Amino acid sequence: MALNNAQYATIMREYEEKRLQTRLLQDSRMNEIIRKIPEYKDLDNSSIDASMEYAKSALFDSPADKEKSTEKLRLHLSQIAEQKKRLLIKHGYPADYLDPVYTCPDCKDTGYIGTEKCHCFKQAIVDLLYTQSNIRDVLKKENFDNFNINYYSKTDIDPVTNLSAYDSMTGICNIAREFVADFPSSASNLLFLGKSGLGKTFLSHCIADELLKKGYTVLYLSAPQLFDILKKNNFGEKDEDVDYNELAHYVMNCDLLIIDDLGSEIVTELTASGFNICINERLLKKHSTLISTNLTPNELNDVYGERNFSRIVGFYRFCRFYGTDIRFAKKQ
Ligand SMILES: [Zn+2]
Repeated sequence: MALNNAQYATIMREYEEKRLQTRLLQDSRMNEIIRKIPEYKDLDNSSIDASMEYAKSALFDSPADKEKSTEKLRLHLSQIAEQKKRLLIKHGYPADYLDPVYTCPDCKDTGYIGTEKCHCFKQAIVDLLYTQSNIRDVLKKENFDNFNINYYSKTDIDPVTNLSAYDSMTGICNIAREFVADFPSSASNLLFLGKSGLGKTFLSHCIADELLKKGYTVLYLSAPQLFDILKKNNFGEKDEDVDYNELAHYVMNCDLLIIDDLGSEIVTELTASGFNICINERLLKKHSTLISTNLTPNELNDVYGERNFSRIVGFYRFCRFYGTDIRFAKKQ
């Protein structure tokens, strides 16, 4: 995906910041350990002493002796490392407590694996170029840890399913968690149906958050954004920062595509056919898609045509959100 220099620098600065945070955390943990476990510092010192002694003798050793002392040093250092770990465990810490904690262990927050861009870099490009750049901030608040089922009524019964709003939501949450747990092997797709204010977007965020944490690529687009990309790609439009062709490729190939608020866009014959291509291609490639909409199944059928709709019926799991707008209850 095309990035200009300033954008590239922005992403690289974010990686630098992450590595700095990792180092600060590691330093503060080290200080804590030295304060609480003085023997740890002694072991640290003895590794330094052994290395210094090795460096001194290496200056004068013959090649054969040097090889022997290198081996001796290696063994000695690994024994000390073992002792350090045992010491941490003895004092109730995990053995890896002083290891660096990377946001992305795959590339150690460098953005690259060898000369290839890491998956987290590709996601960073999309975040920067097109999707809501604040999505990461949203996900800090809207995730499974902060999901509160108690906003849903136990007495408000859905006449269609005979389930209370609370029970419907419990069922949908289970489906969402299953979806995340089985991802991507099940290659399943979800359709969130229901009026606005029932938590569809919130639950989509929960799923996005979990999958991003697992290192999958997730593209979160409102329906108008999606159709805008498809249209501009169709007409070969280019603007300075965005390569629509690459972006459309990403729409078709990311691990999870979330289309939020389908039905909020102006539907033309072109958007309906763009939607058809997008849905079909992702099904063929076994890439999962999550669609949320305020439209009823009948309305979807009318707006996007029977062909599109029959694909959705056949390959998507329907989750029917029911209840009264929880946004009011949340504010209280
Ligand atoms: Zn990475």
